[in-house]
Order: sequence, then structure tokens, then C-alpha cells
Amino acid sequence: MQFKNTREFAQKLDQQDILRTYRDQFIFPKVNGEQVIYFTGNSLGLQPKSAQKYVDEVMNDWAELAVEGHFYAKKPWWDYHERLAQPLSKIVGAKPSEITVMNTLTVNLHLLMVSFYRPQGKRYKIICEEKAFPSDQYMLQSQVRFHGYDPKDAIVEIKKREGEHNFRIEDILATIQEVGEECALLLIGGVNYYTGQVFDMKTITKAGHDVGAFVGWDLAHGAGNIKLKLHEWDVDFASWCSYKYMNSGPGNASGCYVHERFHNQKDIPRFEGWWGTSRETRFLMKPEFEPMPNADAWQLSNAPILAMAPYLASLELFDEVGMDALIEKRNLIVSYLEFVLKEIDAEVESTFEIITPSSPEERGTQLSVFLHGEGRKLFEYLMKKGVITDWREPNVIRLAPAPFYCSFEDMYQFGQILKQGILEKANQLSN
Ligand SMILES: *Cc1c(COP(=O)(O)O)cnc(C)c1O
Repeated sequence: MQFKNTREFAQKLDQQDILRTYRDQFIFPKVNGEQVIYFTGNSLGLQPKSAQKYVDEVMNDWAELAVEGHFYAKKPWWDYHERLAQPLSKIVGAKPSEITVMNTLTVNLHLLMVSFYRPQGKRYKIICEEKAFPSDQYMLQSQVRFHGYDPKDAIVEIKKREGEHNFRIEDILATIQEVGEECALLLIGGVNYYTGQVFDMKTITKAGHDVGAFVGWDLAHGAGNIKLKLHEWDVDFASWCSYKYMNSGPGNASGCYVHERFHNQKDIPRFEGWWGTSRETRFLMKPEFEPMPNADAWQLSNAPILAMAPYLASLELFDEVGMDALIEKRNLIVSYLEFVLKEIDAEVESTFEIITPSSPEERGTQLSVFLHGEGRKLFEYLMKKGVITDWREPNVIRLAPAPFYCSFEDMYQFGQILKQGILEKANQLSN
């Protein structure tokens, strides 16, 4: 499609957008009395209007039923979390039995590593990507130290090449080959939080298995953003947060995936609690742990229902729309944003550099833009004008036009504000 950087053209794309009505189902903050242009759905997704109703339902049931709500609430609390598995399984490409929702992301990855990081003999190393999300780095370091190893030796980082922004698949595969039978676990962020690069999870998972390692993925930036086929790719385990593309609210509960070949194993190393025991006998309070026959066996505590409620509200929207429609719009709106950025870059002779891969297979919703010579002042200008982006050192803004609620006109309008900001800044400098 031949794009144009005009309001009319952007409006035409909006008219043709089959998801356009969903914008109204989310609540946008306002700056200067106007709805913002929201680019940070990769950090905290907007609130679906339906979330309030789901939370109110729990609050009302709690007020009216108190403890009886566990069994007699409109959506009983004792198995409330099980409602999330079906819609989530479609989003991440798994069987419902392979999904559970609990705790938060870093906690879950630690818990899953109890099962999937079991260093033994010469097989004790973990492969991850260089400059992984900080929480993942702390997590991996503390895990290897916990097992008595030195992180400098036991953690092997896949490197980018000098002067390049993204990882090359051949380098990833070479690292896996090199570590070979010393590799106990491969754990990578499936979509890089900084650049937005999407990893070839199918190929990498197979390569990890070929050297005898377990393979897990941190899908904080993957869930609700890209097409995932965790079961088909034979991934061992994965976890994600729900507050980024999944729009379920700040710090909210995390989803987990555990491949079905690990279900029904009584002897698998695992930290256990009563919500992981068989639902049939859970309340008999027996001393012996009988695992749920699915991913729920990794559950520990009774579920935080007030957190599950907005997650469920959001999942119903995903279920209605489906990932395919979201991804189709995502590809178009991200391409349009890329086009607008390049147009503005040429018009004002600026020097942005989009460090996200340009091929649709290797990127999702996010474009990370390196602002050579521009910088933090421009970011602050955008925020003041109601364009919500985020700033990453040394000089990068990340733009994620979430297909659920961002419009093509937002992209056009953003371009105009960006251009104005650059021109004003240039004027200030010359005065
Ligand atoms: C956002 C993000 C996290 C956040 O972890 P929490 O435990 O939810 O605070 C972890 N890993 C990655 C890759 C992320 O992008």
C-alpha cells in the first residue's frame, strides 16, 4: 500500500479498520483536557472499560457473601483462576491445560526454574541474551549462586555484533552449539524489551533441545503482541506479565505455560502449595500432595481474585477479537508509524534511527527510535503535548501503537507534534 502522510489518508485507514470500535472500550488519560496519544501499551496497557464491572462484581460478592463467595459468588472464587486458561491458551498457542495464572512474572520464572534449572555435573550453564531485562539478570544471577555457581562462569550471554542493534540467529545458534552439553537452560526474552526484536523461538527452542537443555521464554513483551505457538514449538515453559500488552492493570498477575509432558509427574522438583493439589480433594486437607493434572500443579496459594477480575475482563476482549486480527492491524499501523517517522525525518533533516528490525517477522508492535542529536528535551516536549512514549538511556524512545486502541490518525498527529518539537528546539538553539 502506498502510504501518505496526511490526515485524510490516516482517517481513511481508520475507516477501513475493523477494530476501530475497540478504541472506545478503553479509557485514555488526558493531557491539557485532550485524550493522549498512547505509545506505552508495552509498559502498561490502558484500562478496558469493562474491568471496573468485573472488579465491582467481586467487591459486591465479597460484601454480600463474605466467605460464602468462595463457592457462591457469581464467578466462584475457589476456581476463578481456571477461567483464564482457555482464552490465554489461544493467545499463546497452547492447550488450556498448559496454562495457569498466578503470582507475578519474576516470581513465576523463579518458581519454574525450580523445575527447569537443575544443574548437575558439567551441565550447569544458563544461556540468555546480553542486556536482558534487569529483573531477568538478577533472577538468573541469584539462581546460579543459589546452586553454588559463579554467575560469571555459569551465565553465558548471547552477544550482538559490534555496531549492530539486533541479535543474529546464526550467533544465537553458535552460542548454543559452543556451550553444548554444559547448557542446562536457555532462558531468553522472546521479544527484546529494548529494541522490540522478535526472536525465532521455534528454531532456538529446537537448538536448545538438541544440546539437551530445557528451554523457557520470558514473554513479557510477547503475550498479546505476537503470534505464539508455544505447544507446537515444543517450548518447555514460559511466563509473562499481564499489565503490558494484556491490559490487565498495574503489577497484575502473571500467566505461565508448562508443556503437557511435565504434567502428572509426582517426582518433578517443584515448590508446592494447596492450590496446586487436585481440585477434587483440595478441601479434604490431606497431608499428601496430589498434583493437579495440568499446569495448575505449579499453583501455590489461593488466587488473588481482585487481580484476576480485570485480567479476565481483558481476556474476554482478546477472545472476541482474536490475535490474528490484532496482528493484521498491528502490522499495518506499525508500518504506517515507520513511514510517518521517515517522512518527518526527511522533512526536518533530523537523524532518527529505527533500531527495531524492519522485517515484520522480526518485530511486533514496538518501534525503538534512537534520537541522534535530539534527546531528552524532545521526549519531554512530546509528553507535554500529550504524546506518551518512554525514554530509555542513552537516547531511545520506544513507540508501541497497541492495535486494540491506537488509531492511524494518532500516528499522523504524532508526526505533526514531533516535527513541531524538532523545529521549536532548533529555533531555541539558534536564538
Ligand atoms: C516487564 C518485564 C518484566 C517485569 O517483571 P515483573 O516481575 O512483572 O516486575 C520482566 N521481564 C521482562 C523481559 C520484562 O519486559
